[in-house]
Amino acid sequence: MITYTYIGHGKFELIEKPIPKLQDSRDAIVRITLSSICTSDLHIKNGSVPRAIPGITVGHEMVGVVEKVGSDVTCVKPSDRVTINVETFCGKCFFCKHGYVNNCIDPHGGWALGCRIDGGQAEYVRVPYADQGLNRIPETVSDEQALFVGDILATGFWAARISEIKPEDTILIIGAGPTGICTLLCAMLHSPKRIIVCEKSPERIQFVRKHYPNILITEPENCKEFVSRHSDHKGADVVLEVAGSDESFRLAWECARPNAIVTIVALYDKPQYLPLPDMYGKNLTFKTGGVDGCDCEEILHLIQEGKIDTTPLITHRFELKDIAKAYHIFENRLDRVIKVAIENKPRF
Ligand SMILES: [Zn+2]
Ligand SMILES: [Zn+2]
Repeated sequence: MITYTYIGHGKFELIEKPIPKLQDSRDAIVRITLSSICTSDLHIKNGSVPRAIPGITVGHEMVGVVEKVGSDVTCVKPSDRVTINVETFCGKCFFCKHGYVNNCIDPHGGWALGCRIDGGQAEYVRVPYADQGLNRIPETVSDEQALFVGDILATGFWAARISEIKPEDTILIIGAGPTGICTLLCAMLHSPKRIIVCEKSPERIQFVRKHYPNILITEPENCKEFVSRHSDHKGADVVLEVAGSDESFRLAWECARPNAIVTIVALYDKPQYLPLPDMYGKNLTFKTGGVDGCDCEEILHLIQEGKIDTTPLITHRFELKDIAKAYHIFENRLDRVIKVAIENKPRF
């Protein structure tokens, strides 16, 4: 089968590999129908994910059809259409039982697919702990509708869930990239009084204006003043930081009102500075990042009910054989790209 493989620093290549086999009674083999490219794939390519293993197939956002299951798999069966979770987790340890699946103590747990074990920019993938890692897609939900459930949508859902959003709240979301938009969609489910999005890219601002006309938009330079003017207590009640720069981190706490919740969804490439003397008396609650991707079933129901729709994010479509072109566009943010879908045409 063809796979898009991490060769070494700066280099991914399409190479042939054997179709994966079951290695454990809790594994499943899934035939991938649709996958996507995530910013984390670019982090692997650029060498900023030290635990990524050269030689692995990349890709951790994908949906497909179950081909085979091990003897201990009970939740899915061959021919089920499924979403695949970016996180591998055992479902049995202390952290899993409390829903903190990101902290599963299993040595194979965490972000394994497309990082430490072969991922989904391929024709097939082996999914460990298939009962936890796979969720059946309802019949009325398409592959494209379900594509982001296991990764960026799970992230947005988790971020909105832990942010304790109330109906009277003004929410500030910093960053309107793909994860920022997913966070926005999930924050909207909590029906806060108003949502402000802070974004600097004109293309992304235009995307938010077009698809979510009720959302207020500001740019980073005016963000603090804008949020103060458009909130009831001179600052956001909840801030979700999804941009991941020094500037956006500073804005996150500066734009929060006293006693606000600041949820850090973003991943930074260096440590951030917490100027506690300047924050003294603001009594902020920080919640830090690392998605607990254990709500996929609920997310799929919300998609089925029409309450979440991420399909507008898919701006480009490619076949697996042309994935290098897709990377080029995604990596360089060409042609107003938000997300790409990589289609696998079945071989007969
Ligand atoms: Zn990802
Ligand atoms: Zn666990």
